[in-house]
Amino acid sequence: MKSTMQDVPLTVSSILRHVATNHAGRQVITYGGAEPARTTTYGPLEERCGQLANALRRAGVGDDDRVATLLWNNQEHLEAYAAVPAMGAVLHTLNLRLSASQLSFIANHAEDRVIITDSSLVPLLAPLLPGLSTVRVVFVAGDGEVSALEGNGVEIIRYEDALAAESPAFPWAEPDERSAAAMCYTSGTTGDPKGVVYSHRSVFLHSMAACTGNALAVEEGDRVLPVVPMFHASAWGLPYAALMAGADLLLPDRFLQAAPLADMIQTHRPTKAGAVPTIWNDLLQFGSSHPDVDLSSISLVACGGAAVPQSLIEGFADRFGVPIIQAWGMTETSPLAAVSRPPAGVAPESDMTYRKRQGRAICGVEMRLTDEAGMPVPRDDRSVGELEVRGPWITGGYYNMDEDSDKFRDGWLRTGDVGHISPDGYLTLTDRTKDVIKSGGEWVSSVELENTIMGHPQVAEAAVIAIPHERWQETALAVVVRTHGSDVTADQLGQWFLENCPAEIPRWWIPKNWAFVDQVPRTSVGKFDKRALRAQHADGDLV
Ligand code: ADP
Repeated sequence: MKSTMQDVPLTVSSILRHVATNHAGRQVITYGGAEPARTTTYGPLEERCGQLANALRRAGVGDDDRVATLLWNNQEHLEAYAAVPAMGAVLHTLNLRLSASQLSFIANHAEDRVIITDSSLVPLLAPLLPGLSTVRVVFVAGDGEVSALEGNGVEIIRYEDALAAESPAFPWAEPDERSAAAMCYTSGTTGDPKGVVYSHRSVFLHSMAACTGNALAVEEGDRVLPVVPMFHASAWGLPYAALMAGADLLLPDRFLQAAPLADMIQTHRPTKAGAVPTIWNDLLQFGSSHPDVDLSSISLVACGGAAVPQSLIEGFADRFGVPIIQAWGMTETSPLAAVSRPPAGVAPESDMTYRKRQGRAICGVEMRLTDEAGMPVPRDDRSVGELEVRGPWITGGYYNMDEDSDKFRDGWLRTGDVGHISPDGYLTLTDRTKDVIKSGGEWVSSVELENTIMGHPQVAEAAVIAIPHERWQETALAVVVRTHGSDVTADQLGQWFLENCPAEIPRWWIPKNWAFVDQVPRTSVGKFDKRALRAQHADGDLV
């Protein structure tokens, strides 16, 4: 029997129309550093989106053409987020921290036709432009110099001039909900970047899921601060979720260091924020030496992209009174797939046993674990397997890449993450397949070791990697950043670990090899770069 329901497509256009019609007065603030913040509201923003869409049409952008952004988290980026899919074209966010060769590869592979950038990024774009074979037009926001872009046969247009010349009225497209709305390449931590293409439907459903109470509970009264870059997995979908909910957005532009973050939070008082652990750890370290830092406006920090250390969750609660909720996802999963809110009614003393996990699946996402032969692994919180996921906002393939079929099995995405799931559905990751340490044939969980080491009061950061070992093939090396002024030694850390070894960690796992560094190298999206660490320590630079 057919339903009687109307078959109205789920589109980004409908999200844009909704926010402009029903939440026109809610604010979008772009932080300015030493300059004053820029503020607009969703009513005028939709008109500027109309002007942008008209300008893109005039520049030759048709349905399905890729419009790339090389931008910070700011108002112009939000305008592209809304206008490009809503006009029927495809938004392609370029990760400005990738290498020049990766950026060129990605822009050519996606066949970007237009790039929207910021004048502060002209020095980054200019050397690439001659090699971008499909780009015809570059729009440049900001007042800075653009001459370095000229002379490549590419039209260079000032963003504000282009918008000023256009009407704000645009007949927003009603595309098939399964057609492409946006695309993002994986950051290439574990191989070549691969293109993930989000549909209107997946963006719509993912935003709805993000707004639910079991996930991030974004609602109109919120002011959402996506610190996570808008080029990293759509800033975890936070901009679209905020548009859907009619929540204010506070956009940090390029100011992602602890001091400006503290300033923008105190001045503009966001209620929800999202970023990888390294960002919040920097803020926690900053807060320990700056007693005035006050983050109390925030009721929820979403943290993920890498394992969230228990010490960070506790430190944030103690120092700032702010709860950190861990989430798990990937570029391939839009990205929100699991969120670690403790079950309702759990006793306070058991709260942390849930918070330190990667989370429970959001409705719409299914998770399962498989062993090396592809057989199911039980959800007994002990048996370890590779995580596989499926759902309406999980990718079923990569853009123009057939050869990656080993990433999928019977319609499930193989995540490359390894862990266990409890009978009540909470996922705990112990490693990534690329990062696992196999010592004497046994797996050692780098995540659990890092979690424990970061609990030492004189450890600011710790990353654990495999190094070669004559007898055990591999062994663990702990690379540690000490807190300011600390001279804690490897022996002291080893002894402390022994005395504080959690029950779930076998004593033989405790690292015997330690190295001290000023900073753990980070990937283009701010995570610990274990590949770089392994290369640095391949020949045993140990303490
Ligand atoms: P990259 O693969 O370059 O890091 P992504 O941002 O897509 O780019 O990363 C997805 C990966 O990040 C996941 O497969 C997982 O390994 C890791 N990850 C995400 N969230 C968490 C989390 N809460 N805990 C541990 N690892 C996480």
